[in-house]
Amino acid sequence: MQIVLATRNQHKKQELVALLSGLDITIRTLDDFPEAPEVVEDGDTCEANAMKKAVEIARYTELPAVADDTGLEVDALNGRPGAFAARYAGEHATYEDNCRKLLQELHGVSPAQRGARFVTVAAIAFPGGKTMSAKGVLNGMIAESATGSHGFGYDPVFILPEYGQTLGQLPPEVKNQISHRARAFAQAKTLLQQMMAEQNSVGA
Ligand code: IMP
Repeated sequence: MQIVLATRNQHKKQELVALLSGLDITIRTLDDFPEAPEVVEDGDTCEANAMKKAVEIARYTELPAVADDTGLEVDALNGRPGAFAARYAGEHATYEDNCRKLLQELHGVSPAQRGARFVTVAAIAFPGGKTMSAKGVLNGMIAESATGSHGFGYDPVFILPEYGQTLGQLPPEVKNQISHRARAFAQAKTLLQQMMAEQNSVGA
């Protein structure tokens, strides 16, 4: 079976290929479909954005498509920035801009109120219209200042209490085993395996 990853981001592509390794599938990417439409992520939730990307790319490529979307939910901000994590400090905000704004908004908030979580939704859509999704969550808290140079996005300000470190301090191989994305894709992999087993038994 072939599937297409609905991303043009090379870093993400490599990570997702690794997370889906071991499946008897050929992984294609949008590099193989240069004319594929740019999907506008205009949903209010990660679920809506991931599903929209997967459905539109499955329709265009006529192959099963896998897409993901990640949000950051901060308790003291009533779940903001949520699905708007990439644009939290503005349309063209850098990772540093977003981290700075988050630290400013949480200035003076006590450690007990600094709980937060990353949520990734991995969506799978089939050309015939069938869809499935899986969610991965990583709980932690927002630091009072940025620390560490690994990773990207909010990693330097996201503390994992059980490690006593930010994701920016954690070796990437550790993050990639426990992350919200790894958890979502472990479930997505199981869904794909079940689906392939069903197809094989129908075809047998
Ligand atoms: P995306 O849906 O994967 O593009 O993620 C949206 C935004 O969430 C990114 O622009 C980052 O700011 C943030 N983000 C996603 N994954 C991570 C992560 O693993 N660590 C830190 N920030 C992340």
